[in-house]
Amino acid sequence: MVSGAAPAAPAVAAGAASSALSLIGLRPFTGPENTRIVLAFSRSTAFVAPDSDRAMTLTITVPGEAVARAAEVPAMLRVRDGVVDSVEAATAVEGGRFRIWFHDSTAFRVAGLPAEGDQPFRIVVDARRAGATQATERRLADIARNKGRDRVRVVAVDAGHGGDDTGAHGPRSVRVLEKNVTLAVARALVDELNRTPGLRGELTRSGDYFVPLRERYHLAEKMKADLFVSIHANSSRRRGSGSGTEVYFLSQRGASDQADADFANIENAADLVGGVPPQSEDGLVNILYDVKRSSALEQSQLLAETVLDHVASDRRLESRGVKQAGFVVLKSVEFPSILVETAFINNAVEARLLKNPEFQRQMAKQIAEGVRGYFARAGVAIGARGD
Ligand SMILES: [Zn+2]
Repeated sequence: MVSGAAPAAPAVAAGAASSALSLIGLRPFTGPENTRIVLAFSRSTAFVAPDSDRAMTLTITVPGEAVARAAEVPAMLRVRDGVVDSVEAATAVEGGRFRIWFHDSTAFRVAGLPAEGDQPFRIVVDARRAGATQATERRLADIARNKGRDRVRVVAVDAGHGGDDTGAHGPRSVRVLEKNVTLAVARALVDELNRTPGLRGELTRSGDYFVPLRERYHLAEKMKADLFVSIHANSSRRRGSGSGTEVYFLSQRGASDQADADFANIENAADLVGGVPPQSEDGLVNILYDVKRSSALEQSQLLAETVLDHVASDRRLESRGVKQAGFVVLKSVEFPSILVETAFINNAVEARLLKNPEFQRQMAKQIAEGVRGYFARAGVAIGARGD
């Protein structure tokens, strides 16, 4: 899914042949390590571009067919984020030509991503920020080192989705995207945790950019996190239905029921949306690993129960209970991990709550209370000198 240019079968089906090709989106997403440029199209198409290379400029062409540009899409996009200078979209009846100017000689990767969920067919360019990987490694090592020095417990706070992976969205009457709600709640949670002596919150995603699911817990492992809390918003397939909060921990065997299995698939599809190929299991099978895993699972369940108790104290939300499913993002054995489905974003009443900063802060406060409660129940002293 990542390599290989286009699913190169334009104009095969009668329906495809009749629908005109149009550039419907052109957006930059700046992350700490790379800039992603997303070209969204009305349908899939063949294109010509190097898979990966290093250069000052990059040209992508869609030859041999008319390409239109939607009115809201700019012909020239200024990015100027230190990696990408600008993007030009030249569309004509002879074809399309898309050029990206980098600030410097830049390593990049180009991929065609098939339509997935709400997302249309996209051509995605990931351009590396020079020296950024080392800077991230240093930052994570600093967190791990300061943790020992300051005698704090580190909670990795994971804002679900990001960038072109928008997650679920509100109903037509309430314009809100899951990726923005999760980041707002995650930021508020970090603030709450940092107000507590002995606790420190650290984000796995600090802006509007895509982070693959495995990368999220790898970041937490490198910062030597003690807990991992992933924030999401729920969505039911039945329009407008579903309500309340549920908290998940990892299931090794499968989901608590079929609905939960479907649901894990929806959240796990974030990687497909972002263009990460599915991976096989890591194949680490030994006794030490099993011991770590069962201890992490046991603690994850306790964390999930304690956090849900606190979140459900908000009378505006019903408690849907603690559940298990095979979420990829919860698979580390290094720390207890939970995924909080804060509320249903497809339900207009709860979408309005999720959008509301007061509710976001309240939700963060209750989750932080749950984290404190967990440490107390697990017999882990926090904020104590000489611990
Ligand atoms: Zn989600």
